[in-house]
Amino acid sequence: MPIKRWPVSFAMIAVAALIGIAVQTSPRDRTITIRGATMGTTYSVKARIEGALDSGGLQDAIDARLREINRTMSTWDKQSELSKVNASRANIPIPISTELRLVLAAAQHWSRETDGALDVTVGPLVNLWGYGPESAGSTPTPEQIIAARKRTGYRHLRLGERWVSKGATNMAIDLSAIAKGYGVDEIGNLLRQRGVSNFVVEIGGEVLTSGTRDGESYWMVGIENPASGRSPGKDITALIPLRAGAMATSGSYRRFRNDSAGRSHHIIDPRTGSPSQSRLIAVTVFAADCMTADALATALMVMGVDDGMRWVASHEGIDALFVFDDNAGGFQQRGSAGVALNRLQ
Ligand code: AMP
Ligand code: MG
Repeated sequence: MPIKRWPVSFAMIAVAALIGIAVQTSPRDRTITIRGATMGTTYSVKARIEGALDSGGLQDAIDARLREINRTMSTWDKQSELSKVNASRANIPIPISTELRLVLAAAQHWSRETDGALDVTVGPLVNLWGYGPESAGSTPTPEQIIAARKRTGYRHLRLGERWVSKGATNMAIDLSAIAKGYGVDEIGNLLRQRGVSNFVVEIGGEVLTSGTRDGESYWMVGIENPASGRSPGKDITALIPLRAGAMATSGSYRRFRNDSAGRSHHIIDPRTGSPSQSRLIAVTVFAADCMTADALATALMVMGVDDGMRWVASHEGIDALFVFDDNAGGFQQRGSAGVALNRLQ
């Protein structure tokens, strides 16, 4: 079934920028916007605060929660819990927090479901290709790739109730493919706990929406032009209403490098140990929660358009929009049925 045309004539990437839209709400309601920095990028929250609800201290609470998540799962913070796990010896149970376990369990689940396209043990390869915290910056040799691959593989990770064990020496877990989505979900939970049920949360383009912006209409997200080199949210080509749920985008268009060995980017195909090779420029995934959308956007980049479309068609509750090179200097797009029919209008 052909997908419904998008409102502009060229392909776009659904990276949310939360645009300031004049919102008509009940006289006692107000819409607040909170912005900040986290996980090497920016975040924003728009929330409709109903009646007399107190939104004081919300930004501090959000910042504190995000700091906590970074402290648990950032590989850029040498003191984080995950960095300590990465520095630990192989083949011993390493005690971990409930939060780290939850995210690792989700990662392992999606690794199995995607036949290893998502694999959070790619840390050594990410570093080798120049996109990690311990990156040398030069293009790796085939021997280096073979050596790093011996230290990767999600099947080498064992998760217990309160521990993880690394089955190969010098493994390095990298949660960058999934942590932003988890952070978005957690800010959503924080807002709900404070009685806020109408909001849109975004970290670096990964989004969760809940309820409506004015009691009737869906929250609007900005759609970005995939032209390389623009900062997130700087080239918005359209606004679309997003039904309650999550949306996350992965792409080779923003973090890449051209050198003598050709073009490389930050998404690694665990089957080859090199950046994924396909015509795909970006994948946007729609799912009920943002951790799932984030994990799957990365996995579908690895799978490519044809395998990815088939995978999405056989998984309920997941939709995806694939943007790829048309081999003629432009972009083409394919979306699963739900992209046209339900999620976007
Ligand atoms: P995202 O932007 O969510 O697609 O995450 C990409 C980041 O996840 C990269 O910068 C790497 O740190 C890491 N990564 C790269 N390839 C993979 C992969 N196949 N599975 C899991 N994580 C990956
Ligand atoms: Mg991801």
